[in-house]
Amino acid sequence: FRKIPLRPGATDELSMMGSTFNRMIDRLEENFARQQQFVSDASHELKTPLTSIEGYANMLRRWGLRDEERGREAVEHIYSEAVRMKEMTQQLLDLASTEDRARYRPETVELVELSRKTAQLLDKVYSRQIEVRTSAEELYLNADPSRISQLLLILLDNALKYSKDPVELSVSVQDDPGVDQQGIEIRVKDSGIGIPQQELNRVFERFYRVDSSRHRKTGGTGLGLAIAKNLVELHRGSIRIESEENVGTEMIVFIPIH
Ligand code: ADP
Repeated sequence: FRKIPLRPGATDELSMMGSTFNRMIDRLEENFARQQQFVSDASHELKTPLTSIEGYANMLRRWGLRDEERGREAVEHIYSEAVRMKEMTQQLLDLASTEDRARYRPETVELVELSRKTAQLLDKVYSRQIEVRTSAEELYLNADPSRISQLLLILLDNALKYSKDPVELSVSVQDDPGVDQQGIEIRVKDSGIGIPQQELNRVFERFYRVDSSRHRKTGGTGLGLAIAKNLVELHRGSIRIESEENVGTEMIVFIPIH
């Protein structure tokens, strides 16, 4: 499509339709550019571990059978890079599925039990305690249970990854005075390394990691919070961060009760 040439300042009906059409073209172009950027970022991110696998496989091919130590080193690297690629591919699939509204299946969800179960799952993985606080014994929400659980997993996993101290999950009913609406507020709080103020918005971008060298040990793909944001938006909610470096981070989600 090409934009329609318009006379500056014209207000007749045809010119108005023309300018609406041109705005649509602008939006399509922006979306297309964003998709292209995403494909290019994803390819780059997947190419890094693949290059490493290629290098170690080559080392194995040349030395592996003669040099046991080099062989073992190569196999270890190939294995860990393959695990990383698999994790990233799964997260890319998750990201795509959160963008597909047709796959959103809302039902009545009891959040207290769901929160406790999800926290227990991570307690086991990290052997650390997550404190779950709720404002009532039962809290109901119209939502997609597997996606709420996925959202909690991402936020709790980050809180545990980026802090050593106990992590807190609280779920309560709150009023959003801005839109005069009641909703469920989910807060995940840690006392970890925190996020610098200037990075607070960027962490929701795909593949973005704060100072990747700082986090190299923790693994991670930089896709978790992009998925979390999409999951919240699927439920017409919002997500924000309060954080201070070396003090801790609190992720705050608000989902309206319909
Ligand atoms: P990752 O897989 O790297 O954890 P995310 O998208 O989940 O990717 O998070 C993006 C970045 O935001 C992380 O790399 C980290 O730098 C920062 N981050 C997210 N959660 C926290 C937290 N609770 N404490 C400190 N930093 C965090």
